[in-house]
Amino acid sequence: MQAQRLFDTLEELSTCNATPGNGVTRFSWSEADGRARRVLERELRAIGLEPWADGMGNLHARLEGTTGAPAVLTGSHLDTVRNGGRYDGTYGVVAALEALRSFHDEGYKPERAIEFIAFAEEEGSNFGSTCLGSKGIVGQIDVEGLKRLSNAEGSAYDKLRAFGLDPDALPGQQIDPANVKAFLEVHIEQNAVLEDAGRGLGIVTAISTYLLPLTALASSTLHTYITGL
Ligand SMILES: [Zn+2]
Repeated sequence: MQAQRLFDTLEELSTCNATPGNGVTRFSWSEADGRARRVLERELRAIGLEPWADGMGNLHARLEGTTGAPAVLTGSHLDTVRNGGRYDGTYGVVAALEALRSFHDEGYKPERAIEFIAFAEEEGSNFGSTCLGSKGIVGQIDVEGLKRLSNAEGSAYDKLRAFGLDPDALPGQQIDPANVKAFLEVHIEQNAVLEDAGRGLGIVTAISTYLLPLTALASSTLHTYITGL
């Protein structure tokens, strides 16, 4: 792992931001989101991977394994709340990227495929529906639901299409739990529980918000649940 490279990418992503100087505002399917995606796509291509976006705009890239064993998924969400922090979500995305870059540096071939995912719209800033990107690929919302979900500017379906995505492709893009061994997400703690306890590591043992078929795919839980258990 190259810590400086990781922090450099975090810094670059923080510039993909609609409110410079006042935290990071990067709503999914916005101009700032588009810029962040191009940074990630550039980095993923640089290590020989082919990034692609599903109908929700979740950004994927897959490093094939040496066996056909179920994959390990890793990543987090790329969107922020208004005037949010630069690490919330983004750190988990870049940690996954850095792991893949390190594998590439070392010529390491994992037995299991490793699938990078940067989830869209975890914060629910556009339509008030949190974890919307992950809902779309685990069957928690379908195309008709996206047409019904709307804000003052129109439907989620139209928003996705205006961003160049193809929500009609979602039925063929569902994640099959049989093909997934685990989902690993690094997520910044949002409170002082660990600090107060003098502990340096927090691991989530449960997610209380959504019981999705692949529970952890609720990326990225709710921040308040990221406490030092
Ligand atoms: Zn988060």
